[in-house]
Amino acid sequence: MRRVYLDNNATTPVLPEVLAAMQPYFGEHFGNASSIHHHGQETRAAVERARESVAALIGCRASEIVFTSGGTEGDNLAIFGLANQGLANQGLAKPGHVVTSTIEHHAVLNSCKQLEASGCEFTCVPVNGRGLVDPDDVRRALRPNTRLITIMMANNETGVLQPVEEIGKIAAEADVYFHTDAVQAAGKIALDVKRIGCDLLSISGHKMHAPQGVGALYVKKGTVLRPMLYGGSHERSRRAGTENVPGIVALGKAAELARAAFARGDLDRMSALRDRLEQVILGEVKATTVNGQGAPRVPNTSSIHFDCIEGEALVIALDLKGLAVSTGAACSSGAIEPSHVLTAMGLRPEQARGSLRFSLAKQNTSKDVEFALSLIPSTAARLRELSPVYNKTASSF
Ligand code: PLP
Repeated sequence: MRRVYLDNNATTPVLPEVLAAMQPYFGEHFGNASSIHHHGQETRAAVERARESVAALIGCRASEIVFTSGGTEGDNLAIFGLANQGLANQGLAKPGHVVTSTIEHHAVLNSCKQLEASGCEFTCVPVNGRGLVDPDDVRRALRPNTRLITIMMANNETGVLQPVEEIGKIAAEADVYFHTDAVQAAGKIALDVKRIGCDLLSISGHKMHAPQGVGALYVKKGTVLRPMLYGGSHERSRRAGTENVPGIVALGKAAELARAAFARGDLDRMSALRDRLEQVILGEVKATTVNGQGAPRVPNTSSIHFDCIEGEALVIALDLKGLAVSTGAACSSGAIEPSHVLTAMGLRPEQARGSLRFSLAKQNTSKDVEFALSLIPSTAARLRELSPVYNKTASSF
């Protein structure tokens, strides 16, 4: 059976060039990068080359890159590393405060919730109907004890790009640290930490064609982070633990390939495919809307609301026919929770549950999109026929 994968915001396939680059580090070049002998020096050199490559992707110095196990760790390290420390040294009586948004990934939201246990407070700024944070809300949320603003760059469900440069200016004026979760932006749009004006930025390998379990956190020179792991002095004492050399080499290669793809204009091709997917679905399936329509978005993502359809049912029906997409909704204890991102944008729970996320990547072709389009309208129509709500309201569509 033909299978097409349009769920690249969940994870991307490792590119053959990336696999080829990392493979020798499982066998021939197996050394511990901290060893001083030949084997160690060989892998140390590979780690440092990868660091240069990741730094080049986001416009920083190699020494400002800390390798992590992925986006979740990068987000945690930024938040716990900064939010709670420093206040005691500064003799401040009040605990710290963090500003974040309602549409962050759970790696950020749950870290902020966890901070509360140590007395640190956080404020979640809202988004508008297009899924955008208003920088003025961020400014208004600042308090004298605010240590950190953490607002994502691209949302994982809608692809909506946040006004991070304006938020960076607000943070700089207020002398507050600014972290941005760029997990869904890296490899999809050009990133420049100086233009963004952030102090910390997290990325994840498996969202950009490196394997799962590796990532990086940019830490601006001079930013003192309290480590989360204690052990050796790896990563300049910012992240203890023997380096995941094959993963790091893969991330370096993926960063190099992402830069080459920008230069070749691959992303324009991707956004054209995404736009075609959207246009045909909106044209052929009644009562559909794009979540985040009109907002700036990364070129690969489309979140579409299908009125009167259970998103989960549509995902399963499409999967049976060979198309992999997702709802973007979290599933906990058997109950499908409506997406916190879509409900924060004002969708009713049933509208959020009726939304599907399509996310493309480099490997997708126009044939893949045509295959998806050959399935989606008919499958949506069949599910609607089964919907009592749709049958009651169909005449109004
Ligand atoms: N942040 C965002 C926006 C994400 O989409 C994800 C993963 O889906 C993460 C963080 C977590 O990254 P990882 O899976 O590498 O831990």
